Amino acid sequence: MFKIKEVLQAFEVLNSSLSWMLGYLKRRQYRFDKRLGVYFHKKTNEPFCPSCLISKNIESPLQETISGWQCGIKDCDKYYINPDYKEPTNDKPKDWLNY
Ligand SMILES: [Zn+2]
Repeated sequence: MFKIKEVLQAFEVLNSSLSWMLGYLKRRQYRFDKRLGVYFHKKTNEPFCPSCLISKNIESPLQETISGWQCGIKDCDKYYINPDYKEPTNDKPKDWLNY
């Protein structure tokens, strides 16, 4: 016979592995972009916050800004910088002196 404590423990293990599974299935809908450091939805190609997705199991779409992506979840509030973004400079091209 099982003791109640053991049964409860078994349920706890089952429960945690179940939520891990659900998280895993959720993450499978996304692809992680190593260079940018954010997740993209495979179908819609929308950027999602990896911090929320991994640690909190929340699907938080990132808000696109000119220089990166902002997470909208209040207690996360992470900002991901787009490495391709270059600040606009007012400098004239240096080559013009050569002409
Ligand atoms: Zn987030």
